[in-house]
Amino acid sequence: MRESAAIRAALAAATDDRIFFDLTGIEGQYAALLRELPGVAVRFAMKACPVDEVLACLAAKGAGFDAAGPNEIEQALATGVPAGLIHYGNTIKSDQDIAAAYRMGVRDFATDSVEDVRAIAQHAPGSRVFCRLATSGEGALWGLSRKFGCSADDAVRVLELARDTGLVPSGLSVHVGSQQMTAEAWQSAIDDLTDLVVTLNGRGILLDRINLGGGLPALGCLDRAGRPLDPPLDKIFAVLREGMERLRAESASPLMFLLEPGRHLVADHGAIRARVSRLSARRGHDGTRRHWLYLSCGKFNGLYEMDALQYRLEFPGHDTGPRVAAVVAGPTCDSDDAFDEAGPVRVPASAASGDPVWIHSCGAYAVGYTTQGFNGFDPLPYTCIGGSR
Ligand SMILES: *Cc1c(COP(=O)(O)O)cnc(C)c1O
Repeated sequence: MRESAAIRAALAAATDDRIFFDLTGIEGQYAALLRELPGVAVRFAMKACPVDEVLACLAAKGAGFDAAGPNEIEQALATGVPAGLIHYGNTIKSDQDIAAAYRMGVRDFATDSVEDVRAIAQHAPGSRVFCRLATSGEGALWGLSRKFGCSADDAVRVLELARDTGLVPSGLSVHVGSQQMTAEAWQSAIDDLTDLVVTLNGRGILLDRINLGGGLPALGCLDRAGRPLDPPLDKIFAVLREGMERLRAESASPLMFLLEPGRHLVADHGAIRARVSRLSARRGHDGTRRHWLYLSCGKFNGLYEMDALQYRLEFPGHDTGPRVAAVVAGPTCDSDDAFDEAGPVRVPASAASGDPVWIHSCGAYAVGYTTQGFNGFDPLPYTCIGGSR
């Protein structure tokens, strides 16, 4: 995955620390996804990049939104998308949240418990619900397995209760875990969904939609040890295409398919221009001498996902010359604000305080996870470039 010439030019022209989003790149990514999975409706998972310009650019191309609560719903509506293209994808919601969403026109709610269904029936009467089926999360960098989703048996109870309380039991959803690296995870989710659709049909519940969730990987970031992740994207798309065909064939009612990608649409189209704070060497408590490269931004302002991956770094002006292996870290007094020590990065030995650093493929989960200024280090300003609007 190579970043575009436009984003490289923006990084080169930057005179301060900043995160850039390449709207043309995001539009291209969205178009490519629809080419791979024709007929699928996209509901962008807003938390991956809650930037107005990015949302507007996706909305203009026909995407809807997966929102997690009233504030995200409000932000989605501000793009001009109809409320019918926004679903409340969070299984966790208070009575007040449900009522607020209903007032704003949202009629599609994710659920995974009878308690939640009762609340939806009361505060969003007549709405459509889709039940989230639990997955193992295996094969993903972030599993999302415990907190969300229910068993197939529970899903039957949940959707029967929905029907009995005047809601429309409309669909099923899964999320196989974020940055899912295996096609097998989708295969297994589709097997479970197919069995459940057949069971539900047998009980007189006819569904109209299947939501295959998020989890589609980004291509340009590195694992914790600094190796390219290299997800089998073609195989994943093939499994999804075959799976949709099988689900359609087994279902007693016509199905539409939804995806709610977050990371996949934006990760590789965002990049940060930061600076070197210091390259230093010291012997630590374990007696091992290591180089440390401290950057001007880190976990709390742009690089939140350092727990499970490394970001690709480029040091303009330092293309040649000796390199040293360094642990890369952010500027705060928090020891988690660092790349994994197991995967040191080759950095220019001549890196000096103030030198620019380009951080690639960091467009997902950067802005939303930024703190108000933990330890006094400011959030990064952002700039959007390109786009067809
Ligand atoms: C976060 C989230 C997504 C997006 O996940 P990605 O791995 O970024 O694609 C999709 N759906 C739901 C319900 C989510 O919570």
